[in-house]
Amino acid sequence: NHSSSIHKKLMGIPHILVLPFPAQGHVNPLMHLSKRLVQHGFKITFLNTDFNHKRVVSATNEHVNLEGPRMRLISIPDGLGPEDDRNDLASLCVAMLRTMPSLVERVIEDINGLDDDASEKISGIIADVNMSWALEIADKLGIKGAVLCPSAAAISAMQESIPKLIQDGILDSNGLPVKNRKFQILPGMPIMDTADIPWCIGDSTSMKIIFDYVVRLVQWSHLTDWRLCNTTSDLEPEALSLCPKILPIGPLMESDDNLRSLGQFWEEDLSCLSWLDQQPPCSVIYIAFGSFTVFDPLQFKELALGLELTNKSFLWVVREDIDTKGNTKTAYPDEFQGTRGKIVKWAPQQKVLRHPATACFISHCGWNSTVEGLSNGVPFLCWPYFADQVFDKSYICDVWKVGLGFDLDEKGLISRWEIKKKVDQLLGDDNIRGRSQKLKGMIVNNTLEGGQSYENFNKFVEWLKE
Ligand code: UDP
Repeated sequence: NHSSSIHKKLMGIPHILVLPFPAQGHVNPLMHLSKRLVQHGFKITFLNTDFNHKRVVSATNEHVNLEGPRMRLISIPDGLGPEDDRNDLASLCVAMLRTMPSLVERVIEDINGLDDDASEKISGIIADVNMSWALEIADKLGIKGAVLCPSAAAISAMQESIPKLIQDGILDSNGLPVKNRKFQILPGMPIMDTADIPWCIGDSTSMKIIFDYVVRLVQWSHLTDWRLCNTTSDLEPEALSLCPKILPIGPLMESDDNLRSLGQFWEEDLSCLSWLDQQPPCSVIYIAFGSFTVFDPLQFKELALGLELTNKSFLWVVREDIDTKGNTKTAYPDEFQGTRGKIVKWAPQQKVLRHPATACFISHCGWNSTVEGLSNGVPFLCWPYFADQVFDKSYICDVWKVGLGFDLDEKGLISRWEIKKKVDQLLGDDNIRGRSQKLKGMIVNNTLEGGQSYENFNKFVEWLKE
């Protein structure tokens, strides 16, 4: 019968536990990696936190099977209470570290103790590099352990350089950034301001907690020789030369196999794809700020009016929780008509960026959005907020030169006129478009046979199967 034939097929299939950090921009690349491993004959148990698992289930509802023979989504608590603020990174990290390691260990022991069919047993863990404590569990249980870095390799390179950053007076001995200093990890990489160090988030107490967590992550990540990164060698030659142990396997993109992607926290509004189909090639501005940036209401209004002023078609992602004032319905200004625009709560972003109608991307420069835009040759208008976004913006504008930034006005806002000016400037710049296309070609070549990402991924698969 059917189930015994599935069971037979599973014989000899290596089974991997995948553990993302609990954020959309981390779940996505680990899910893409998981799906590729399924295509290479693996069975995956994908372990979210309960909180995010619920979001994935409700965003997915009946569209995708969460429990396939080769891919199973399960969850454990993150250690925070139901009302706690999960955007408070320091509390989240402390709670996770207190709660999750023993639960992850138990999950593996439970699965591995289930029956005596050796083929079902978990033989390896792939953890987000921000959860690299899981490598200790892999060591303890005698199974394989690997990490994936879902941000730029430069961020890992920067974290590896923490002792030098302290020595050079960029960080103080508590790991806090020394004010008003500029630094560069290696020539050819972005020049950074100490205010923009990616993990220096929140007040000084939070920063210290996160710093201590990062220092431990670096130590844990050295427990494995398999440190993968969602990047390519052409994008980050310097960072990868500084950390030769990091293996680029990017870009990690959604496979074309199913219409809806698995692992999204919000339901994708697919109606924007048929809307895009009706637009001329290279005519639409796509605007999206990732999964947790929020807008000041004044700035939100300027953006709305700026889009209007461009006189161009636009596709704008406005999450329900995008307003800093906590309004579920963000107020559009009265003058805003939006007749040339389509507004959705969550877009199938990779499909949008791949669409021939998309002309440019107004982005917060999260690393996934960056890689997704680059891989499709879409030029950027950069609107970073925090974490690694400022660094990514600098890669885009100063190093790869495939985008422009915005200037603030005297009120500290990006004005509607600035938005119109930069959209016109970007779309009129053939050099930027040319460079975007060239970079796209280089990135795509990495994923073809003989390309570095392709070869690294295959080596990784061989090792996992050994
Ligand atoms: N994304 C999406 N639909 C949207 C907005 C974003 O599918 O409307 C996806 C996007 O493709 C990316 C992820 O959400 O994979 C956001 O990750 P990123 O690193 O860009 O930003 P973060 O959310 O971590 O700030």
